[in-house]
Amino acid sequence: MELSKFCPRCGEETTQLYGDNKQLCSNCFTEVNNLIEAPREIEIETCSVCGRMKEKGEWIEAYTVEDQLGEAFADTAENFTLELQYWEEDEEFFVRLHVSEGELKEHHDVKVEWSQDQCPDCARFQGGFFKAKIQLRGDNVQKVADDITDKAAELTNRNRSDFLSNIEHRDGGIDFYLSTEKMNKKILSMLRDNYRPEIERSYELVGERDGQRVYRNVVSVRLPER
Ligand SMILES: [Zn+2]
Ligand SMILES: [Zn+2]
Repeated sequence: MELSKFCPRCGEETTQLYGDNKQLCSNCFTEVNNLIEAPREIEIETCSVCGRMKEKGEWIEAYTVEDQLGEAFADTAENFTLELQYWEEDEEFFVRLHVSEGELKEHHDVKVEWSQDQCPDCARFQGGFFKAKIQLRGDNVQKVADDITDKAAELTNRNRSDFLSNIEHRDGGIDFYLSTEKMNKKILSMLRDNYRPEIERSYELVGERDGQRVYRNVVSVRLPER
C-alpha cells in the first residue's frame, strides 16, 4: 500500500516531501528555504589589454562573458544544477542564477559590476611595442593551424590592423605572429572553446625601438593528447 503525503503548509497531495525538520512540498520548501546563498552583487575584473579575468587573485584565461560568468559563479551552487542567464538593463548588468535539484527550483538575480584594470604582465609592458606570438604545440597541429588562419582571415576582414604577419613551422609545432594583442585574445578564445588546450604565457625581448625595449607576448598553446 502506498500512502499519499500531504504538505502541511499548503495541503497539496504530493509524492515527496522535503526538509529535515519541517517536511514540505517542493513549492513550499523553496518558498520557505533557499537552496543556496547568492550574493546580491559581484564584481568581475578584467584586464583591458589581454582580456583575461581576475579570479581569486589569479589572472585566468577566460575571455568571453559566458566563460567569465561561469568562472565567477563556479562555487556558488556546488551541489545543484546551475544555469545562467544574463541581460543588461539601464546600463546595468544582471545575471539570473537558475538553481535546481530535481523538483526543487529557485532563482536569484545578481548584479554584476564589471571593472577593468591592467594585469601585472600587461602593465609591465605599457607603452612598449606590443605584439603576440602563439606557439602551437602537440599532436595533429595542422587542423588547429587551419582554424587559426581562418579565424585570422576573418579578423583581418573586419579590421585591417589585425593580421597574421608570419607563420613558422618548427620542430613539434607551428608559431604564429600576430599584429595585435586584441587579435591574440580572440584567437585564444576560439582555441579554448574548441580544443581545451593548456595555455601558458611568457614574454620575450625582441629589441629596442625609440629608446624603448620591445617585448613580444608569447603564448604557448599545447593541445591535449587524444
Ligand atoms: Zn506545500
Ligand atoms: Zn593583461
